[in-house]
Amino acid sequence: MSDRYLSWVNSKWGALVAGRAGLPQPVPLDRHTRHRPAADGEVLMGGAPGAELLPTLIKAAVGLNLSTLAHRDVPQWTAMASAAGLMSGPWQVAGGRGARLKALIFDATALSLTDDSTSVFRFLNESVPALVACGRVVLLGRPPETCSTPERAAMQRSLEGLMRSLGRELRRGATAQLVQISPGAETALQGVLAFLLSPRSAYVSGQVLQVVGGPVAALHAPTDPEQPLAGRTLLVTGAAQGIGEAIVRTLARDGARVVALDTPRQASALQSLASQTAARALAIDLTAADAPDRIAEAARDDGGWDGVVHNAGITRDRSIARMSVEAWQTVLAVNLSAPLRVHQALFSQGLLKPAARIVVVSSISGIAGNRGQTNYAFSKAGLIGWVQSIAPVLAAQGRAINAVAPGFIESAMTAAMPFAVREAGRRLNALKQGGQPVDVAEAVAFLASPDAAGINGQVLRVCGQSILGA
Ligand code: NAD
Repeated sequence: MSDRYLSWVNSKWGALVAGRAGLPQPVPLDRHTRHRPAADGEVLMGGAPGAELLPTLIKAAVGLNLSTLAHRDVPQWTAMASAAGLMSGPWQVAGGRGARLKALIFDATALSLTDDSTSVFRFLNESVPALVACGRVVLLGRPPETCSTPERAAMQRSLEGLMRSLGRELRRGATAQLVQISPGAETALQGVLAFLLSPRSAYVSGQVLQVVGGPVAALHAPTDPEQPLAGRTLLVTGAAQGIGEAIVRTLARDGARVVALDTPRQASALQSLASQTAARALAIDLTAADAPDRIAEAARDDGGWDGVVHNAGITRDRSIARMSVEAWQTVLAVNLSAPLRVHQALFSQGLLKPAARIVVVSSISGIAGNRGQTNYAFSKAGLIGWVQSIAPVLAAQGRAINAVAPGFIESAMTAAMPFAVREAGRRLNALKQGGQPVDVAEAVAFLASPDAAGINGQVLRVCGQSILGA
């Protein structure tokens, strides 16, 4: 469904009226197209005294072909960059306000009260005004629980509050995130930056991503940026329309062979999508008693799968007092029982390949709750519990499982909402607009790819930093 307000507010008159009346002024978000670099503009690097990640960041900047500038607090960056063959120079604050920065990266790993926590303030205070539309701010820190002193842990947690507030201040489609890198997981930073700096993360803002070490982080390997999923086969459920269809198209674009599953009622849409994307179509109702066995059989035909995207989901909204037991059970059967049953069948029969990636589509309703959605929120919160519970087991085997939690996405599901609820859903987020199915698909493709090495058991919200459950 189209967002008419977004078009109107970006017309000459609309911009004038909205500006005078103080109405929200969303801008069309920059989205990925082929052969775009990770960041098509200057990236300003900064850091607190003792920043620990600069050598890792140099490698990432080389790997991602970034054009960088150095804030005066990290004068060493220029020499380090030149030694690595990377073009870089100092950023001049005075002229800097006119200079247009595509992204700001601040290494806050060594932030401490005694050193001078104003370094992060100074960096952002000076550089945020120079950020272009749809720019990116990425703060880098450590998980507070890995810090050696309570003061350092406090500083690391402080960054979360700073980043979430900043995300709400940024204008014109710019986003802010915090990446917490566990000691030993540094090699995984490049892949995470590739996603967060690029237009693939258009509708992701205000998020904390933790990157851990161990077998999962070891999965990171340089890939062809246009085909990061080449040679992999992944199952996508609920594939015939909406977010599932976008996931199939995006995974296929990234080089994956997709097995697209939906109900027999959707067989013709599924077949047409499969022929456009060279996917294999599976017309199976996930709630059928024999569904797990039939899916396992299909996986065996393919010699096992490299990943599964549990996307199929339904709503049957009603307040709990008016809800029928059928509405409760149907939602639970599709949204929660089916992914668990399918996973059990694939896992127990050894049909998930060694580095398999599983991505579960939850919802911010499962985090924040939503009136009329007790059944839906019960199922979507359950998915998060499941992900967090099996993540350590999978990590020990080099596999990973993560969830995405979409907010308001323009789709058949949200088009069916009453007008006022739909408008509220669209605007109550920092980007002042709904996301597109492709925004969820990009996050899924990232989590399914080697770029997400070190990310396991996490919930990545794709919600434009919705105020719900924030
Ligand atoms: P949609 O209704 O457009 O598509 C869902 C697909 O799942 C349909 O093709 C449907 O046929 C399929 N499906 C349903 N029951 C099935 C079953 N028993 N077996 C096999 N397939 C089945 O929904 P969407 O908006 O694309 O949502 C996709 C996922 O994203 C869902 O899990 C939904 O809960 C979640 N989500 C959506 C939004 C949003 O704003 N649209 C927000 C948060 C989360």
